[in-house]
Amino acid sequence: IIIPDKPDLPRAGILNTNGRDRWLTVTQIGLTKDDRERPWTDQEFIEIARGHVGIRDLDVTLLNRSIWRVSMQVAETFRKGRVFLVGDCAHRFPPTGGFGLNSGVQDAHNLAWKLAFVLKGLADEKLLDSYSSERRPIAQSNANFSYGNRLRFGLTDDAVRSRDPDRIRFWINDMDNHLHSIGQNLGHNYEEGAVIPDGTVAKALNSRYYTPTDRPGARFPHMWLEPSRKKSTLDWFDKEFTVVSGPLGSEWLEAGKQVSERIALPLSLKQLPSADPADGFQLGMRGAVLVRPDGHVAWRMPWLPSDPAKELAGALSALLH
Ligand SMILES: Cc1cc2nc3c(=O)[nH]c(=O)nc-3n(C[C@H](O)[C@H](O)[C@H](O)COP(=O)(O)OP(=O)(O)OC[C@H]3O[C@@H](n4cnc5c(N)ncnc54)[C@H](O)[C@@H]3O)c2cc1C
Repeated sequence: IIIPDKPDLPRAGILNTNGRDRWLTVTQIGLTKDDRERPWTDQEFIEIARGHVGIRDLDVTLLNRSIWRVSMQVAETFRKGRVFLVGDCAHRFPPTGGFGLNSGVQDAHNLAWKLAFVLKGLADEKLLDSYSSERRPIAQSNANFSYGNRLRFGLTDDAVRSRDPDRIRFWINDMDNHLHSIGQNLGHNYEEGAVIPDGTVAKALNSRYYTPTDRPGARFPHMWLEPSRKKSTLDWFDKEFTVVSGPLGSEWLEAGKQVSERIALPLSLKQLPSADPADGFQLGMRGAVLVRPDGHVAWRMPWLPSDPAKELAGALSALLH
């Protein structure tokens, strides 16, 4: 971030785009409209870039320029009949935080398996309604977070221009929350949708930290499965629902096999080598979870019931029909 002393030089974010010598300068040209007297010429823009770097004769090649409008918008619904909104057409955020594309990819990941299941006749059409109820609250949360990040830039700018060291220190330190946002990225739970709540209470989201959990709605936690660190629990999830049992819960896998054959639904069957609560596993030694193709937990039973096949079949039926 460049906050120049010179009032005629605009504040800018400068991002590297190839790891070497290609850069993107992002700057504001107005609040609600283009406030410049006239568009900058290419040469004027090169002078601005040189001013930002502080090297008067820097060799600059201008590759491209474009204008876009910063906005914070979330569609009222992400589904109407046969139409599904995914990515920027469902939600647009200020780019501060890097959530736009990430959210779009998460949308597609959420919707793809649901479409596949409905089109193959494995689930009722109402499964598709869960796309909007699951993704929309997360889009709204990411919109709010990105917008807060954007406002902070203005406050940091004001602080730097005030030259008050306490004010500057405060806002520069707070800027750290913009960059450290893994909780905002990975910590969301789907509370309402293709998930069977187990009665546990959702923990408040902490944007800065991600606490893995196998609670229904959460992303199933990552754990390396071999010392070479090439295969993770996350690699288990692809096109099918997966039954994941605790280390002493083999009966669940047997039950999964029976259910899969009985209802003609392919199920993937996996057993955790260990289930340390510190890694986010609360399913216990003899429990199991049912994980969706997108890696989110759909259902959890952290003990072994008398008839695990019945429990599993009941959960799948509630989720898909
Ligand atoms: C400066 C900036 C920095 C960003 N940084 C990040 C970041 O660090 N991390 C992040 O996650 N996100 C970031 N984003 C956001 C990210 O770029 C967008 O969220 C993402 O590109 C949206 O993808 P999309 O496929 O939904 O839409 P788009 O990328 O807009 O794709 C839509 C496509 O549809 C095409 N199209 C439009 N109308 C038609 C039509 N009628 N027929 C056929 N084609 C059509 C368009 O030409 C376009 O190619 C940033 C955005 C900006 C502006």
